[in-house]
Amino acid sequence: MPNMTRLLNFLLMLGCDRCAIKTRERKVIQVNLGVLVSIAIILLFTFGFYISGNHGFLLSGLNQLPFVALLPLVLLLNYKGKFFAARWCLMLLLMADAATALMTAQGTSIKIHSYYLLFAIMLVVLFEIREWRSILILMVANLGLFSFFELHGWPSHPDITLLSTHTLAILQALVICSCIISSCAILLISEMYAERAELVLQHQADTDTLTGLLNRRAFMRQVALQREQPGCWVLALLDLDFFKKINDNFGHDAGDVALIHVSKLLKQALKPQERLARIGGEEFALLLRLDETGTQALQQRGEQLLESLRQQGLEYQSHYLQLTASVGLATLEPGDSASEALKRADKALYQAKINGRNRVELAGAVLQPLKRKSQSL
Ligand code: GH3
Ligand code: MG
Ligand code: MG
Repeated sequence: MPNMTRLLNFLLMLGCDRCAIKTRERKVIQVNLGVLVSIAIILLFTFGFYISGNHGFLLSGLNQLPFVALLPLVLLLNYKGKFFAARWCLMLLLMADAATALMTAQGTSIKIHSYYLLFAIMLVVLFEIREWRSILILMVANLGLFSFFELHGWPSHPDITLLSTHTLAILQALVICSCIISSCAILLISEMYAERAELVLQHQADTDTLTGLLNRRAFMRQVALQREQPGCWVLALLDLDFFKKINDNFGHDAGDVALIHVSKLLKQALKPQERLARIGGEEFALLLRLDETGTQALQQRGEQLLESLRQQGLEYQSHYLQLTASVGLATLEPGDSASEALKRADKALYQAKINGRNRVELAGAVLQPLKRKSQSL
């Protein structure tokens, strides 16, 4: 069974590695799915017709079998990256298959021409919007075929005309239900893939690739959401000191490893409602929630962050890299815009750099030096 799932997955994904955009990938998967579902439906109906013993239906099933051999061509076209040709090929084969079954055996007695309505819906899902001309042409063709057969009818094989009106009504209901179920399934799968792709893109748009932290845009959105919760909220900007030296002395890769290391340390220092982002090269923004207000409480929280960096340097290729940072803090007052608070935190950070780095400064306040744990070691 796992082998079967792997094979199905392989067939569904044929051509996806050639897709530059997610929408195209989704369409390719849907075309591949269309091929597999069509083959399954043809085989299922042929089997059902064989069991029924009705010569008319048996003939319809046998006449449709060549399409089972032709439909994999569509998969081949997708595999080769010829997506547009694959879509056309699938639509033409399906239309020809329905016409063959209808004109050579079934006639319009069980309303197999309703499938042309399903094909008209499928078009919108299978083709890309920029291929609107193809959608239009095939839509007119399918609706035209449906209307023609609905208005004029087509004679059925004599064995099918012998069936009771009750049996014919049941078969008609089956055909119409299968059309509606197929349309719903196609739309549902399309929605499912669109939702999944959207989630992936949203995650990529909100995330810094190197550290996996939020980026600036996502951070500002989180600040706007979180600050609605009660509490004393503070914005902190943390910039690594003399980071350029790490790159210069140990290489850019060492710098990257150091950034990941710092991200992990800062993440560990956060409480559940707090947020962390990498908003610049070696600059991090934090949204902190303090239990108590007051300059000293703020300063202590900033110092705790720095202390965790001082205490846990980075082991890199038999070197021990000592990391320090400077922090600027600004409280988020009610009615205060987050970007204004961020500017104030940035000024405080600048002050921390001027005042000697490896320290905390608070916007609009003069801080007293705190006793550092690492100094007492
Ligand atoms: P200061 O204490 O004044 O902040 O000094 P600094 O060296 O940290 O600051 P500066 O702005 O002079 O240099 C920042 C360096 O960060 C320069 C840049 O090469 C490095 N950097 C920025 N983004 C990345 C990154 O993604 N990876 C690595 N390895 N380095 C980065
Ligand atoms: Mg720096
Ligand atoms: Mg910087």
